[in-house]
Amino acid sequence: MKDYIVRAAAANTQIRAFAAVTTELVEEARQRHGTSPVATAALGRLLTGGVMMGSMMKNEEDMLTIQIKCSGQIGGLTVTADSRGHVKGYVYNPDVMLPPKNGKLDVGGALGQGVLTVIKDMGLKEPYSGQTILQTGEIAEDLTYYFATSEQVPSSVGLGVLMEKDNTVRCAGGFIVQVMPFIEDKVLEKLEQNVQKIQSVTSMLDNGHTPEEMLGQVLEGLDLEITDTLPAEFYCNCSKERIEKAIISVGRREIQSMIDDGREIEVKCHFCNTAYKYSVDELKELLKRAVK
Ligand SMILES: [Zn+2]
Repeated sequence: MKDYIVRAAAANTQIRAFAAVTTELVEEARQRHGTSPVATAALGRLLTGGVMMGSMMKNEEDMLTIQIKCSGQIGGLTVTADSRGHVKGYVYNPDVMLPPKNGKLDVGGALGQGVLTVIKDMGLKEPYSGQTILQTGEIAEDLTYYFATSEQVPSSVGLGVLMEKDNTVRCAGGFIVQVMPFIEDKVLEKLEQNVQKIQSVTSMLDNGHTPEEMLGQVLEGLDLEITDTLPAEFYCNCSKERIEKAIISVGRREIQSMIDDGREIEVKCHFCNTAYKYSVDELKELLKRAVK
């Protein structure tokens, strides 16, 4: 199953819903960053939440960034998504190892306490930014809390990443269900009952359920209408030229000291881990373009 996102409505637009399968993009992130199992699970959950939240935005140029800074060994995570199913991200410490908790990867333990920040750049003067305290560090609960307190939209978020024995990604995906302010009590009651009784996202995916079928379970008896689907992928827009701008921005003194070292330098993109090399001659050209 290729990665994709489903956008949907239910109960005559009293509910809006998103679901995604993200197995391939989470596996690509794992390979690019060489993440440990618990880091793969944490990053995979945030990439899955991020790509769905990106698809909630309206314009092609809109960008969404989710940043977590935390006290646990993972240190933090950053994920960026656009509205077209592109997502990229990284963790600060990809090697974090922790003993399992209740037989599961201890994502909450890897994150510990911290702050979650969502930044939406929608082409306005000031990007929108909302910040909340991590609740459990398990990410789905943290996004649920963010939606409720920062955006005032009651939501149910389910995210899951299941690993193979060889630590590659077996399946990944999730859903976000949000209720509109005008929701009727009986619709809300039915939704709450459904959320209580559904299987975990990882068991649904492992049982071969598609995103449409996951929403079918969460929104059972609530007149689910699939609005559209779009492909999802790990995508980074970095290039040698973009990285050049970053080098130029470190300033003349730093660039001069790299030139004085007399060796080519290698700069890696944080988001996708692609390495770009610059010869001493190229650094001299960048020095000319640096203003400060
Ligand atoms: Zn990149």
